[in-house]
Amino acid sequence: MEIRSARRLHRPARAETSAPRSSLGARLGSAGRIQFRDLCYDVLAGSSTNDEHTLLKGPMSKISADSNVNKHGLSRHIPSEIRRTIRQGCGFGCVICGAALYQYEHINPEFQDAVAHDPARMALLCAQCHDKVTRRRLSKESVDAARKNPKCLQQGYTRDFLACGDNGEILLNLGPIVTIGCKRILRILGDDVLWVNPPEVPGGPARLNAMFQNAGGEAICEIVDNEIRVRKTNWDVEIVGPELTIRNGAGDIALVFRSEAGHSMRIERLRMRHRSVEVLIQKDGLLEFGASNTFRQQLSGSMFFHTESCVEVFQDHLRIGGNSILRPGTM
Ligand SMILES: [Zn+2]
Repeated sequence: MEIRSARRLHRPARAETSAPRSSLGARLGSAGRIQFRDLCYDVLAGSSTNDEHTLLKGPMSKISADSNVNKHGLSRHIPSEIRRTIRQGCGFGCVICGAALYQYEHINPEFQDAVAHDPARMALLCAQCHDKVTRRRLSKESVDAARKNPKCLQQGYTRDFLACGDNGEILLNLGPIVTIGCKRILRILGDDVLWVNPPEVPGGPARLNAMFQNAGGEAICEIVDNEIRVRKTNWDVEIVGPELTIRNGAGDIALVFRSEAGHSMRIERLRMRHRSVEVLIQKDGLLEFGASNTFRQQLSGSMFFHTESCVEVFQDHLRIGGNSILRPGTM
């Protein structure tokens, strides 16, 4: 899900012929080879590295192709606290377009000239906007201006589109609950919390919708017809590989949502309150519901296939699959 990069291709002969050429490189032909090589990246989907790009890189001689430090001895690795500060300052998405998939960038000065990872001089940029800068279709001044007024802070959220709903149905795991092609996955006190709308046109994708809140009952994230929107008011939002994590504070996880191509989407961790009802999915994988002083119920696993209504939570009980009413305890 996340595309991070950092390693330059340092096999000139192969890179220049097999890697996709930028229009700039193609236009310049042989005269542009050195510059084109500078524009090449080894894209690592789901990489766990914390390296970053730099914008409009200069000649290869400025930084050794194999080096992880620049001429000032600054490592490409960005400490986690600094990355969090950058995320918070940018509203958790690309400063230009608001996309939730991003890279950490030195904008002024560029990495090759930087003496420190200064959050105020760094920004989040998505791959597409970064590419526009690299191709000089977007100026560095525009990035500077966007860093001062990030898109996500303007619109209130960062966003991404979920590639899901193929074959007209959604595959989603809510903790231990497996749902395939279901309509109403979770409903609490009469409010839809997790549900699926049918395709808008024949052959189109089914559309996932969700309203996630934190343990204090504040909205943290919505999914609107497969577009996930994460609020800027969160303490931290991090995407690593296919996994989105929202935290209320250090070590305080509100949501872990995993969306990996070829697999069902998974809500792996959740700690939310909707009105008087608490919903909990912890490391043990159990799904737990509770309402203040009235009941507490754990579910260890169920599968729903093309079910109209999977889990409904009332003030004092649960309804599973539209007709089973559970007694307090674990099933
Ligand atoms: Zn962007």
